[in-house]
Amino acid sequence: MTPGGGGPMKDCEYSQISTHSSSPMESPHKKKKIAARRKWEVFPGRNKFFCNGRIMMARQTGVFYLTLVLILVTSGLFFAFDCPYLAVKITPAIPVVGGILFFFVMGTLLRTSFSDPGVLPRATPDEAADLERQIGNAEDIANGTSSGGYRPPPRTREVIINGQTVKLKYCFTCKIFRPPRASHCSLCDNCVERFDHHCPWVGNCVGKRNYRFFYMFILSLSFLTVFIFAFVITHVILRSQQTGFLNALKDSPASVLEAVVCFFSVWSIVGLSGFHTYLISSNQTTNEDIKGSWSNKRGKENYNPYSYGNIITNCCAALCGPISPSLIDRRGFIQPDTPQPAAPTNGITMYGATQSQSNMVRGQRQHGEAACHHGQSLGPGFSQESWGRIYAAQAL
Ligand SMILES: [Zn+2]
Ligand SMILES: [Zn+2]
Repeated sequence: MTPGGGGPMKDCEYSQISTHSSSPMESPHKKKKIAARRKWEVFPGRNKFFCNGRIMMARQTGVFYLTLVLILVTSGLFFAFDCPYLAVKITPAIPVVGGILFFFVMGTLLRTSFSDPGVLPRATPDEAADLERQIGNAEDIANGTSSGGYRPPPRTREVIINGQTVKLKYCFTCKIFRPPRASHCSLCDNCVERFDHHCPWVGNCVGKRNYRFFYMFILSLSFLTVFIFAFVITHVILRSQQTGFLNALKDSPASVLEAVVCFFSVWSIVGLSGFHTYLISSNQTTNEDIKGSWSNKRGKENYNPYSYGNIITNCCAALCGPISPSLIDRRGFIQPDTPQPAAPTNGITMYGATQSQSNMVRGQRQHGEAACHHGQSLGPGFSQESWGRIYAAQAL
C-alpha cells in the first residue's frame, strides 16, 4: 500500500485527468477519505465488537451478563452487610483481602471475555483457489489416470510433532488446513488456535490468547467463593452466639442469600479449577481431553506430543510464555482496491477473485505474519515452530 505502488491502472486514470504526475503526498490522503471503515465491520465470523473493534466477544452474551450479575451482587452484598461487622469483630484485613480478590476476578474475567481468543484469519479467495488446485493435483496423483472410480479429495494432511503423527483437517468455512490444536468454534464460526472450548459464562471462546486469563479467572473465583462463604458462615455464627440463630438471620438476611449462592456454585468452580490445573500440568486442552486424543486407549504408542514431560515446564508454558499477537488486525482500515503485486511467497496464480476483497484480507494476513515474526523475536514459542511445519507440509 505504498504511495509509489499505485500500479499501471491508477497511473492511467490520473493521466486522463491531468498531465501532472500524481505526487506521493496526494494519493494516500485521497485513499484515507474513501476508506474509513475498519476490518472488524466486515469480519466474517459471528462475533460482537464494541468500542470501535477494541472489544471482541461471541455473539451470544446473555450468560456472560448472568456471570457478571452473580459476582457483582454476591460480592456487593458481602462488602455491604458482612464486612463492616467482620472488620470490627475480627480484623480489617478481611475486606482488604476480599477487595483484592474481587478486583483480580473482575480483571481476569473481562480480559478473557473482551479479547481475541486466537482467531485464525480465513483464506483469501486466491489462497483458497490455490489450495483447491493443490488438493485436486494430489487427488489426481492418488487416483491415477486409469482408475475410473471417484474418490473424495484428500482433505487431511499429516505432520509429525515430536515423533507423533498429527492430522491437520481442512476447514470448509475458513478454507485452510487447521494448524495443530486449532478447531472451528461453531458458535463463533471461527477457527481458533489452541482451541480449548467455547465458554458461554465468559461469552467468548477460550483459546491460545486468553487461556491463561481464563484459568486465573476460575482459580481466583474459587478463592473468592470459598473466602466469602467461610466469612459469611463466621458472621452468622458470631451473631447467633450473641442473639440466637434466628435473630442472627433476621439481622443479616443478605448473608443467607450469599451463603446459598456460594454453596451451590463453589463445587463446580473448584472442580473446574482442579480440572484445568490437571490440563495445564499435562499441556492438554479441554478439546483434546474430551476427544481422548492422547489417551492410552488409542494405542500404547499414543502420547501427547505437546507435553514437555515435566509438570513445571508445562505450567510455565501455559501461564508465563509470551502471548502471541492477534492475527485478525480488527482495528486496521480496509484498503481500497489498489492493484497489488502478486504474492511473492509461492507464485500463486490469479483466479477470478474480487480484487478488493482479496486485497483486504491479504492485508490482514501480511499484518498477521509480520506480527508472528515479531512474536518469534520475543522468545521461543511453540506456534511458530508448528506453523513452520505446516508450511513445509503444504509445500509438499
Ligand atoms: Zn474454520
Ligand atoms: Zn466460540
